[in-house]
Amino acid sequence: MQILVIGAGVVGLAVARAAALAGHDVTVAETTGGIGNGVSSRNSEVIHGGIYYPTGSLRARHCARGRRLLYAFCAAHGVAHRKCGKLIVAANSPEFAKVETLLAQGRENGVEGLELIGGNAARALEPELSCIGALSSSESGIVDSHGLMLALWGDLADRGGMIAFATPVERMSFVAPQWRVHFGGNEAGSADVDAVVNCAGLGAQALARRIEGYPLAAVPPLVLAKGNYFGFAGRPAFSRLIYPTPVDGGLGVHVTLDLAGRMRFGPDVEWIEEESYTVDPRRADAFYARIRTYWPALPAGSLVPDYCGIRPKLSGPGEKQADFVIAGPAAHGLPRLVNLFGIESPGLTSALSLAEEVVGYLS
Ligand SMILES: Cc1cc2nc3c(=O)[nH]c(=O)nc-3n(C[C@H](O)[C@H](O)[C@H](O)COP(=O)(O)OP(=O)(O)OC[C@H]3O[C@@H](n4cnc5c(N)ncnc54)[C@H](O)[C@@H]3O)c2cc1C
Repeated sequence: MQILVIGAGVVGLAVARAAALAGHDVTVAETTGGIGNGVSSRNSEVIHGGIYYPTGSLRARHCARGRRLLYAFCAAHGVAHRKCGKLIVAANSPEFAKVETLLAQGRENGVEGLELIGGNAARALEPELSCIGALSSSESGIVDSHGLMLALWGDLADRGGMIAFATPVERMSFVAPQWRVHFGGNEAGSADVDAVVNCAGLGAQALARRIEGYPLAAVPPLVLAKGNYFGFAGRPAFSRLIYPTPVDGGLGVHVTLDLAGRMRFGPDVEWIEEESYTVDPRRADAFYARIRTYWPALPAGSLVPDYCGIRPKLSGPGEKQADFVIAGPAAHGLPRLVNLFGIESPGLTSALSLAEEVVGYLS
């Protein structure tokens, strides 16, 4: 089949690669001039274990499976990564109860390498930490997300697939037996393809509404939850990822490390109406308060506004966390079309596994 994948983020590239490996003729259409210019370059670059998500959900299944595939892919393709491990820390007894619940949830999800440890054991690993106990996850790690996307693109190109940059898909309609796709950009025009996968991230809903005959009721609402990061101006205090217990809409302001060992904090959760990428320095106050619950020695004046990312969520504040949505023909009645909605965290970890499921829908 001739397959068009819309969006050159980590998910679109993983889907395009999987389709090309399955023998299809694949093109990726991307609005911007490069790969990974959307959500995929504005995240924590954490390889998640798969602990938090309800058992049986797409997020639970694809995170754990995607993680295993991702470590194998990184090793085989020389993508920089480090299985540094992670501690989810409890500052008090109510938080310890939450951590125990997370252990049970993680075990039910089949996550390997989980262990509950006491405060002293946690401090033996990370001497700067203050906590009464922690859940240790040895399978968690970090990855060079851009290196990962370049490697996915490399596999795609090796199989003859290509990316059309500066090519925004504007609308499409099914003109049997193919999809007619209209795109803008400098060389605006249309093309006919056998199958389409919408991996447009924050743009997925807007695009779905421009598919002729697509049931509007089947387009889930897009809820924007910005995550702000603050960099740390000093020597890193930790060698593992340190997470507090999760909050509404996110995993809590955590310590993330990059592959150079630098430490930063975030993301928080800021519910917004419109896309905006400025980090308000005043949010630092809440960061200091939260971080000091597990790192009391955080020096004053050490946090500097860094970058932010926007989670393409399907649920709002106080609502039950929505799952990923993979909307294939059964969901909307149109042939050989898959829309991906709500691919927020852990979408980076899940990408390789999601890709396999999506390609399965097309054949
Ligand atoms: C703050 C934050 C922290 C996160 N941390 C983690 C983490 O640590 N670990 C983890 O596993 N996940 C994490 N995630 C989630 C992860 O980053 C995303 O799930 C993943 O990057 C989504 O990739 P994507 O390819 O679906 O979207 P994107 O990367 O946004 O790609 C979509 C692409 O589609 C293009 N596009 C849009 N509309 C059109 C159109 N009409 N025509 C053509 N192209 C179009 C866009 O330009 C964009 O390049 C985090 C997310 C956020 C916001």
